[in-house]
Amino acid sequence: MRIAQVKTHLLEHRLEVAFESASMRFDRRVHVLVEIVCDDGTVGWGECLGPAGANAAMVQTYSAWLIGMNPLETEKIWATLYNALRDQGQRGITITALSGIDIALWDIKGKHFGVSIATLLGGRFRESVQAYATGSFKRDGVDRVEDNAEEMAGHAAAGFHAAKIKIGFDVAQDLQVIRAVRDAIGPDMRLMIDANHGYDAIEAIRLGQAAAECGIDWFEEPVVPEQLAAYRDVRARQPIAVAGGETWHTRWGFREPIETRAVDIVQPDICGVGGFSEIKRVADLASLHGVRVVPHVWGTAVQIAAALQFMSAMVPNPVRNTPIAPILEFDRTHNPFRQAVVKHPIEHENGVVQIPDAPGLGIEIDRDALVEFAPRSGT
Ligand SMILES: [Mg+2]
Repeated sequence: MRIAQVKTHLLEHRLEVAFESASMRFDRRVHVLVEIVCDDGTVGWGECLGPAGANAAMVQTYSAWLIGMNPLETEKIWATLYNALRDQGQRGITITALSGIDIALWDIKGKHFGVSIATLLGGRFRESVQAYATGSFKRDGVDRVEDNAEEMAGHAAAGFHAAKIKIGFDVAQDLQVIRAVRDAIGPDMRLMIDANHGYDAIEAIRLGQAAAECGIDWFEEPVVPEQLAAYRDVRARQPIAVAGGETWHTRWGFREPIETRAVDIVQPDICGVGGFSEIKRVADLASLHGVRVVPHVWGTAVQIAAALQFMSAMVPNPVRNTPIAPILEFDRTHNPFRQAVVKHPIEHENGVVQIPDAPGLGIEIDRDALVEFAPRSGT
């Protein structure tokens, strides 16, 4: 069995209403899927986090090494591709592209052996996970406090038991948003806050100290990802658990934050950290230091399926019989192709998502959707 073709599929949708986090404005949704075709006809799918066009170009760069390799040799391929661009590519687009390739290879491996990726990773500890609703971005022309509170009340009504809101814009206004959302969703729903590295350490500490009384589960990306000393300051000087890691790459990128306890929770993104091969190593590293792992998710159903397979195989806490169950990030912003790319959408029911158990990722791609959402020329 050999790799015969490496393809990428760009997907794009122009939004009627743009929205913003503290670090990025979204006027379009753009993602890229990776398709690897083997000489026996087996096809595997993956997805890359981040700039879609750059990821697609990098995947094609890697194809020079991939063609002709045995797709079942995932570790050998990971090492070959990493070593090929190591000198200039230890983090960033090189790794996000490698992630999409690695996920597609594990999909092929699962299909080849007729088992889900979770089984290949070591076993299905769980068949479902709780999901949390990610939303409450800043939208043009609306009152942010009212808009966010109303949106989050909607997620509570839809059955979610946990949600995450966007802050990092302005400490005083962010506190108003947090208090309004807590009022709107009631005292029992888990609430997380995500600054998308919009603050410096002084602002983050002030925000965390004031927001703690609202019962916040975790405070995500308080400061820019390169400032690990600032992360440690924030963790030491305000009471909310600190989370981060969606922009850190590979085991080497996670080593210092984990070993120096810069965070309480690491959030590797399977489509960014280096795929299944690497997220497993990051989780093992975190387990050495008692750091919790909650994967970051921001993509199509391909990425959600990959995260679910990994989460199924996450080893429970051995001390307690009831494990600290992983929780799935479930993006609720507008993206018409998020679920359209698969024939059976991955949906939640009362805030719980079932983990597919069909071979590989457990999904079937809808090729009509790939055509429908392909970028139009001139866009
Ligand atoms: Mg985030």
